[in-house]
Amino acid sequence: MKVIVPVKRVVDYNVKVRVKADGSGIETANVKMSMNPFDEIAVEEALRLREAGAAEEVIAVSVGTSACQETLRTALAMGVDRAILVETAEETQPLGVAKALRAVVEREAARLVVLGKQAIDDDCNQTGQMLAGLLGWGQGTFASKISVSSGTVVVTRETDAGLETVELALPVILTADLRLNEPRYASLPNIMKAKKKPLTVVTASDLGVDMAPRLQTLKVTEPPRRGGGVKVADVAALVDKLKTEARVI
Ligand code: AMP
Repeated sequence: MKVIVPVKRVVDYNVKVRVKADGSGIETANVKMSMNPFDEIAVEEALRLREAGAAEEVIAVSVGTSACQETLRTALAMGVDRAILVETAEETQPLGVAKALRAVVEREAARLVVLGKQAIDDDCNQTGQMLAGLLGWGQGTFASKISVSSGTVVVTRETDAGLETVELALPVILTADLRLNEPRYASLPNIMKAKKKPLTVVTASDLGVDMAPRLQTLKVTEPPRRGGGVKVADVAALVDKLKTEARVI
């Protein structure tokens, strides 16, 4: 079975994001970019499935500009077998990405796709669900445990109401939650080996996919600054403030 892992290049989670002066978006010039952290978890899970014999090949796919090749090399260094860049100059949005991924899944005849549950830049949490809808496949989102056995996948899902366990028939779309696993680091020899692993570039138009944005960003603004705190003299004063000012108790 082939497993596809979509990986997105995003602003590194350690970077304090700054809004552009004209409010049109966030500053990305000279900013450290990395693989979306949930996608690292998805890569790790796919590698564990291959190591356990449940998958034969793991393919990382990124949709975006040629800079995404760096993210794909990171996935290759972690251990994926090969990588595909769907190159587009358009701003990537969940529906366009899902359409591009559907085309790759169909070309590769993959039976399992493991995505991150959300990208930390847009926080959309939509791509996996849209891809499942486009392909007509079952979906196990927010997975914190996955086990694959002949033809079925049992997924424990993290929901607001607690843990839910579902059994799905392959082919399946999964999205990785934080507690699914702890991703491995790429070792230096593997980083060197990754340079020689195959990375194919196709354009969105080669795949016949319309990537035109459907959403328009009207304005991006900084969250309001936090006001300064105050020191209280004793517990009684604190309780009084919580009761009369904050009105939380
Ligand atoms: P989102 O719906 O934008 O929150 O993204 C959810 C997941 O979809 C991410 O964790 C990735 O696995 C995948 N994804 C989103 N955008 C891209 C992209 N441009 N290239 C590859 N994968 C993506």
